[in-house]
Amino acid sequence: MPLELIQGDIAAQTTCAVVTAANKELMGGGGVDGVIHRAAGPELLRAIRQLGGTPTGTAVITPAFGLSGQGVRHVIHAVGPIWRGGHASEADLLASAYRHSLELAVQHGCDSVAFPAISTGVYGYPLDQAAEVSLRAITTFLWDHPALQVRLVLYGAGPLNVFQRALARVAPSA
Ligand code: ADP
Repeated sequence: MPLELIQGDIAAQTTCAVVTAANKELMGGGGVDGVIHRAAGPELLRAIRQLGGTPTGTAVITPAFGLSGQGVRHVIHAVGPIWRGGHASEADLLASAYRHSLELAVQHGCDSVAFPAISTGVYGYPLDQAAEVSLRAITTFLWDHPALQVRLVLYGAGPLNVFQRALARVAPSA
């Protein structure tokens, strides 16, 4: 399975594409987005602000600017849902944000992409549920794109453990 779960910092990755958890206004934010923007520099903010916005459950792609020094070519700005209790299509929207991001990576010729756990910070998506939805979306995509390397970068040992357990449920043979 070309899927790897690691504990680490999303801004330190050297994959072809790195995903950030953006907001639909594409205005730049805190959390993972702040970390990516600090690493990539002010050109990244200028580039996404020109795009104007993108709906929840979608993603847009820009050059990696300052992150290119470590080999990253693209930043993918994925907009996950805000958790509203679980009955507002959150699971569909989260899966869709991953799918769009993966499609963009492939369309731009990438063989590797790193993701943070979209929506599980300020957006409040419960980690265990987000883990299952995210891993299902990724593993389904990988069936059709086995050459793509996907890395999920979890922030801390606790989240990594939650994702490892979810992977055992979603893809027992992985
Ligand atoms: P969202 O607004 O989509 O919830 P956040 O940026 O608030 O996005 O958080 C998404 C997840 O990323 C959270 O689980 C958070 O703990 C984690 N996170 C925060 N900083 C980093 C980092 N440097 N690298 C990877 N993950 C991070």
